[in-house]
Amino acid sequence: MRTQIKNGTVVTASDTFPADVWLENGKVAALVAHGTELGTADHTVDAAGKYVMPGGIDAHTHMDLPFGGTTSSDDFYTGTVAAAHGGTTTIVDFAIQSKGGSMRAGLDTWFGKAEGKAAIDYGFHMIMTEANPSALEEMAGMIREGITSFKMFMAYPGVFLVDDQQIFRAMQRAGELGGLITMHAEIGLPIDVMVQQALAKGHRAPVYHALTRPEVAEATGTERAIALAEMAGVPVYMVHLSAQRALERVCEARDRGLPTYAETCPQYLFCSEDDLRGVPGDEWQGAGYVCTPPLRPKHHHDHLWRGLRNYDLQVVATDHCPFCMKDQKELGKNDFSKIPNGMPGVETRHYLLWEGVVQGKISMNRFVEITSTAPAKIFGMYPKKGSIAVGADADVLVWDPKREKILGKDTLHMRVDYSPFEGRKVVGAPAAVFSRGELVVENDVWVANRQQGRGQFIRRGTFSL
Ligand SMILES: [Zn+2]
Repeated sequence: MRTQIKNGTVVTASDTFPADVWLENGKVAALVAHGTELGTADHTVDAAGKYVMPGGIDAHTHMDLPFGGTTSSDDFYTGTVAAAHGGTTTIVDFAIQSKGGSMRAGLDTWFGKAEGKAAIDYGFHMIMTEANPSALEEMAGMIREGITSFKMFMAYPGVFLVDDQQIFRAMQRAGELGGLITMHAEIGLPIDVMVQQALAKGHRAPVYHALTRPEVAEATGTERAIALAEMAGVPVYMVHLSAQRALERVCEARDRGLPTYAETCPQYLFCSEDDLRGVPGDEWQGAGYVCTPPLRPKHHHDHLWRGLRNYDLQVVATDHCPFCMKDQKELGKNDFSKIPNGMPGVETRHYLLWEGVVQGKISMNRFVEITSTAPAKIFGMYPKKGSIAVGADADVLVWDPKREKILGKDTLHMRVDYSPFEGRKVVGAPAAVFSRGELVVENDVWVANRQQGRGQFIRRGTFSL
């Protein structure tokens, strides 16, 4: 199968240039000047007036995740189909080492969730709930399997929280093995006290989720995670950074030359604490915006955009973790602390971030870098993923900057009964999405023969930035 994407403008993390792109055997085969003869194509896509970019990589999703007595509403099938519609061709999800269990068992569980279901390629991070001697030993086996990044939590005492000694040991071990520790950096012990105190005062509404998880808890956790990584002499990656003061800690570390990396998510750039307050007369609607860390007041947005522009934030991932309002978010109807934490987002990342390009907040090249190239490099998938380069996987997004779409639960493909962006009109949308050379989505319609199970597991390489 030879595919020609002709007349488009190629956009990579570094360059913008006119070229025809040829795909063959699942790989990018050639980039040539418009009109150059390279024989016949089995399929041609005319990309005149459009941008040809590497497919999106979402380095933070939670498909089929058990959480708070329920399970995230997208599984690896529905969630990856939705991702592809939005221009994302690779996800990195999270397998979980259960307390008292092995990472191997956790990984097998998550292979079972994804295999035969995922429609696009996928990798896994490993959530470590314990860093005891056997877990530290097991990290080597995970890295051999291509699970080269590990997530640890300073939050959720009794569930995910690990203490500084365990984090430090895991960091040292990751450093020996070429793994990367990623951190959920809110300090959860005092947060839990604040939650209990709020509930005791009768505060039940969704907004108290934010009011009991203040910015300082994330800023301090971020600083502590950076300190631990500095002591261990290893890189560290902050997941879902949401707040100005947490970003300042990252900036300070980077200014001192430390290999500190951080991602933010669209919800922290486009939603705010106001959304958590719901609508007048119906504060419950705020439940759809409960995620962790919580949405912050609006003034944080400008800081995060500046962080993206100035390279202090490297990645925008989604933390896609949808729960339906009905029956799922409703578990916390009378107690904000029981609202499952998470928002849908795997499909809307490109639509939203493109607004940042249109408004001049980031360049097109930076858009490509934060949605694809940087996560590919940081998480050991480059140059197989994350670039339009000869020999790379032909995961290609043809982006139409003029195509309009109204975001909403009925116009998107995620399996969830609301949209945080209901009715929002966006300009700029995928015209065609290729996964390993196969056209999977064209003009918002799934066109590949296969859907379930066409995605492949990505055995990722060690950290090498
Ligand atoms: Zn997450």
